[in-house]
Amino acid sequence: MLTESVMRYYLLSPVSRPRSRHQAEPHGPKPLEPRNRLAHESCGHGDHPAVRNYDYDLFVIGAGSGGVRAARVAAGFGARVGIAEERYLGGTCVNVGCVPKKLFVYGAHFAEDFDDARAYGWDVGGADFHWPTLRDNKTREIERLNGIYHGLLDGAGVEILAERAVLTGPHRVRVGDRTLTAENILVATGSWPVVPPFPGNEHVITSNEAFYLDQFPERVLIIGGGYIAVEFAGIYAGLGAQVWLAYRGELFLRGFDGGIRRFVADEIRSKGVELRFDTRIHGVERRGSELRCRFEDGRHLDVDLVMVATGRSPVSGGLGLEAAGVNLGDGGSIPVDRYYRTNVPHIYAIGDVIDRLQLTPVAIAEGMCVAHNLFNDESRSVDYGKVPTAIFCQPNIGTVGPTEEEARRKHPHLAVYESSFKPMKHTLTGRGERTMMKLLVDGEDDRVLAAHMCGPEAGEIIQGLGVAITAGATKGDFDATIGIHPTAAEEFVTMRDPIRRLEDQ
Ligand SMILES: Cc1cc2nc3c(=O)[nH]c(=O)nc-3n(C[C@H](O)[C@H](O)[C@H](O)COP(=O)(O)OP(=O)(O)OC[C@H]3O[C@@H](n4cnc5c(N)ncnc54)[C@H](O)[C@@H]3O)c2cc1C
Repeated sequence: MLTESVMRYYLLSPVSRPRSRHQAEPHGPKPLEPRNRLAHESCGHGDHPAVRNYDYDLFVIGAGSGGVRAARVAAGFGARVGIAEERYLGGTCVNVGCVPKKLFVYGAHFAEDFDDARAYGWDVGGADFHWPTLRDNKTREIERLNGIYHGLLDGAGVEILAERAVLTGPHRVRVGDRTLTAENILVATGSWPVVPPFPGNEHVITSNEAFYLDQFPERVLIIGGGYIAVEFAGIYAGLGAQVWLAYRGELFLRGFDGGIRRFVADEIRSKGVELRFDTRIHGVERRGSELRCRFEDGRHLDVDLVMVATGRSPVSGGLGLEAAGVNLGDGGSIPVDRYYRTNVPHIYAIGDVIDRLQLTPVAIAEGMCVAHNLFNDESRSVDYGKVPTAIFCQPNIGTVGPTEEEARRKHPHLAVYESSFKPMKHTLTGRGERTMMKLLVDGEDDRVLAAHMCGPEAGEIIQGLGVAITAGATKGDFDATIGIHPTAAEEFVTMRDPIRRLEDQ
């Protein structure tokens, strides 16, 4: 079911010409302290036995979200940087992750928009969906972004090597048939979808292939309960497929706020997606053009496509980490300290390959930390406590701060403010969709700990609240903020009374 274009995502733009160190144009690098001195500043004379003569100050393996940012920022500080990428510039996010996924989410939402338009007086006639148009327009946009990434790296003076890189020693990297040396090495190799072992798992696809399907399926089974599974359930359903989602746990979206999880499950069901919790796949069998999926409870389902989204594992195997002396942790992730140093002090790791949060802005922030710490004498690390994030299901989820379940364990005076309502748009359309918002406040010092939302544009709304919560805003500050009327977001500054207080329970 894959197009020719699936192969194209394995292609890269041509390898850029290396710049000499004199061509690199640092954007006003600060004077470097001895511990951050660039390798090339102390080498090249060859007359001192202790002087190390490395090809690069920093060599980055993997040009995804984290690697590209680290490389660009390091080069901006005047470092000589090389980056190896074996598949696609921009990594998962740009090619088979956030960006194409969000474009598909936009595409999927038009089905409801066309319906809703009638209540506002629009006669849109019969609306037909043409999958190849969406797929190929998306691919063109991704190719444009690949070019932009190439230009950004090249413009920053980073040498791009379009090949697989493998460590062959603490300071050595083999790229194609060349062996290169680097004073510092950054492993930013990301993660890859895991397909669990069950009979017939060769018939399933993962999110990687979902972006390049030849034909749009009429019936889809999604296996998994994380955000990628839930988002794709919304995408397929919005684009017109009949969708089942099977998850082995009792409720999907583990790790998100319990109230929001239950709320969104109801919303997704009401849009026609069949959610089967406590359901494990037993096997998949091809029967002509159909796939028969058998579950452990004895039920079966015939579909055209099975997509597995049961997690991603760090890309750390076959990288030569052992040769460089780097330890691996549980599940293959690379253990790092708070400054992203592995057990080998000059080898760093960031992004999905470490055991923190698998999100693009987190990988980028970690990459910034490594570049600033190495070449601008700083000691930065990421605060993982208040990372805002969104799930682009329908309706969206936006969240920042702990879940109510986590907050209850840490804050004995927790106050919970909650509101659920029909969005104004649907007063005319009659659509049953509702919005839910929740604020968690520490009753002891009035600080707002978390904001959770399920509703249209939740990600956009929560991003702003993330600033307020990171800055330590109190419920008093929220109350003193004038709402923007009429919006859904104003509800966050007009929730007056908590619906429950932990100390009362
Ligand atoms: C379907 C999907 C949707 C997502 N949606 C979101 C979202 O909405 N928001 C969000 O924040 N995050 C989202 N993510 C997660 C996000 O894409 C990742 O967290 C992010 O891309 C991690 O960045 P990274 O730099 O660690 O790795 P990656 O972006 O995966 O980059 C790693 C790169 O390393 C390359 N590489 C690996 N090994 C080698 C080697 N030996 N030599 C050379 N190159 C190598 C790979 O080819 C790859 O390009 C999504 C992910 C998926 C799969």
